[in-house]
Amino acid sequence: MSNVALEHDYGIGWGGASLAGMLEESERIFSETGHYGGLDELPLKATEPIRYEKMFSRLRGGLVGARETAMNISASPIVREVGELCFALYTPEGDAITLSTGIMAHVHTMSMAIKHMIRSDYETNPGIAPGDIFVNNDPQLGGVHNADVMNFLPLFHEGEIVGWAAGVVHELDVGAPQPASMPIGTVSRYEDGLILSCMKVGSNDTLNRDYENRIETAVRMPFYWVLDEKCRIAGCQIIRATVERLIAEEGIDTYKLFMREVIEDARRAFKRNLTQMTVPGTYRVPSFMDVPHEEDKGLMPDYAAVNSMMNCPLSLTIGRDASFHVDLDGANKWGYHSFNCTPSGLQGGLWVVLSQTLVPNDKVNDGAYLATSFNTPYGTWSNPDNRSVSNTLSWIFLIPCFTGLVHALSRAFTARGYLEEVLAAYPFTGNITQGGGINHHGQDAGWSNFEHSSCGISARWGYDGEVSGAAMWNPEGDMGDVEAWELTEPLLYFGRRIRPNTGGPGKQRGGSGWECVRMLYGTERQILFHCNSGHVFQTSGLYGGYPGSSGYRHMITNTDMKERIAQGLPYPVEDRDTEDSQIVANVEADHLIDRRCHHFPVSQSEYDLYLSVLNGGHGLGDPLDRDPEAVVADLNSGDVLPRFAPTTYGVVAEQDADGHWVLDQSATDALRADMRKQRLEDSVPVEEWMEGQRGRAADLDFIEPVAKAYRESIALSENWAALYKDFWGLPDEWSPPNGDASGRDR
Ligand code: MN
Repeated sequence: MSNVALEHDYGIGWGGASLAGMLEESERIFSETGHYGGLDELPLKATEPIRYEKMFSRLRGGLVGARETAMNISASPIVREVGELCFALYTPEGDAITLSTGIMAHVHTMSMAIKHMIRSDYETNPGIAPGDIFVNNDPQLGGVHNADVMNFLPLFHEGEIVGWAAGVVHELDVGAPQPASMPIGTVSRYEDGLILSCMKVGSNDTLNRDYENRIETAVRMPFYWVLDEKCRIAGCQIIRATVERLIAEEGIDTYKLFMREVIEDARRAFKRNLTQMTVPGTYRVPSFMDVPHEEDKGLMPDYAAVNSMMNCPLSLTIGRDASFHVDLDGANKWGYHSFNCTPSGLQGGLWVVLSQTLVPNDKVNDGAYLATSFNTPYGTWSNPDNRSVSNTLSWIFLIPCFTGLVHALSRAFTARGYLEEVLAAYPFTGNITQGGGINHHGQDAGWSNFEHSSCGISARWGYDGEVSGAAMWNPEGDMGDVEAWELTEPLLYFGRRIRPNTGGPGKQRGGSGWECVRMLYGTERQILFHCNSGHVFQTSGLYGGYPGSSGYRHMITNTDMKERIAQGLPYPVEDRDTEDSQIVANVEADHLIDRRCHHFPVSQSEYDLYLSVLNGGHGLGDPLDRDPEAVVADLNSGDVLPRFAPTTYGVVAEQDADGHWVLDQSATDALRADMRKQRLEDSVPVEEWMEGQRGRAADLDFIEPVAKAYRESIALSENWAALYKDFWGLPDEWSPPNGDASGRDR
């Protein structure tokens, strides 16, 4: 193991080095040797493998225990019910050694914040000492969005820094002009709410009183913020105690070697898994997201109130040398909305995918990061060339983007025969319900409901997806008890049910999403948001499977619910079917149904209803290949509406006297034969189809948001422009036209 340069004799680093010097040296050694810490061997693991594994297990166990304990300190249902928190342990330089369960997105985002503090010489000013407490929620320094608040405690041994403990929690409200943690309709960072940019906020294990005062007035419901902060700090202190005990028993020199080895070990494991499980090559997967703000004119500035579309042309290149390169070259421009990402946020997304695919074991740390590279092109939504852009809802673009990465990996796994690892990607984790106003406790409050942490899971090779399973960013996600949400939100739950037809059709069906019907109660006024994909499918299914359903909005205002309740009349506990809505049937109201799932918050009143449809997963394989008995089971379980069994799956079934669906095998065989014949008749060779579309592609004859996205991608990337030309067979001199078919100016 190599030691660090001793440039200064006063530093908190090892052997008196400065911390910045240690980081510089660590990066130099890695770039020169290709091994973390310059370790071309793993001496501890090689000579004392049991001791090595025990040390890892004790640290990892300490972190998982810290998370479980800390969850009971917080009062927020996001933490207690859904587990939206994560702890990690870092080297002095800010490289992750191990992490707890939970929102693993933050392993490398917190690493970036620590490195920012080191590079900015926090060692000199404001100083880094035992017992200090730092906080960050600035996504440009490390994080995904400012809702995710992180605390950092430096760990010392006999005057030397030996690492950092860090914890992150998603807050209920961030003090933005609009209530809730992830506002929609903000157009700049100055509207994103409270942003604390790597600040020292405590010393001697105590938060500074001036910081506590600031929180009291900066956010709605500071009670939750303060308890969440105590939850993070307590978790970090438990980690500190675990590390101190381990050093006392194993010795500081062993611990120093161990932390280097375990990262190099994980880097090698990542490369081994990659070599073993994938076929080298370039995998391209486009995905999309709609940002429909045109109808928000008057609520948002004119330049922001436009319809736009996100283009995410992700490519994954796996090299023969087990290199792993993710590239967003060709992404379109950032926009005046709250959905822009930062490179740090994208690292969060990458982590989510890697820890659920290539490194699904306990030894997840920055070794995997060091085995990957990631291009987030400057000027695009993934790395805006404007530091003032808003990004409270970065996940809107992150989820489609990394859906593409799961598709790419699944193809690479299939090619190698690792079929059990194949997954038809993540669904978009919506609808995200948020709101605020005067709540049922008479307080001015904002809230973010996180029941979308359990959307339907996509199909796998040979298996249907799970119903309401998890979220892309939290593999342990949970919908939470309704009573817990009702404590913080002035909306009563009438019902939660599986929502039919939300899972993507396929030989293996995507897991169903679900729905809940709620009523505003005990509040004078609330503003409410929806948040989902409405106009586009973010991605396809896999191998002929269809995507899960996209979302829609059904607003129910001016209801007769007050009278209904007084008279004991029926009220809707489910909606079930857009075309035969149980809400429309069971309540007198103004019903607005459209596809605007991202919108400026809307004012609603007591007794209004709110329908939230939670997405299902994507399908895998051709629906006509699905076992007909499985489709009949779907009819009986309510996962598929009867009218879609013949049209989508070619399955004919009839109800018996008890109302149970029973398969008609011969009618099914005949219908499927007809449908296959019809497909042949309807289909044309790909070359012929492309010939027919080439003129549209050349003229960018698409709806304006799509044409605009492509114009931006072409302007921002020569490579992507060349790919577009090559794919469509356009001449070299082609450039995008200035006007579209409608003759509109731009
Ligand atoms: Mn978050």
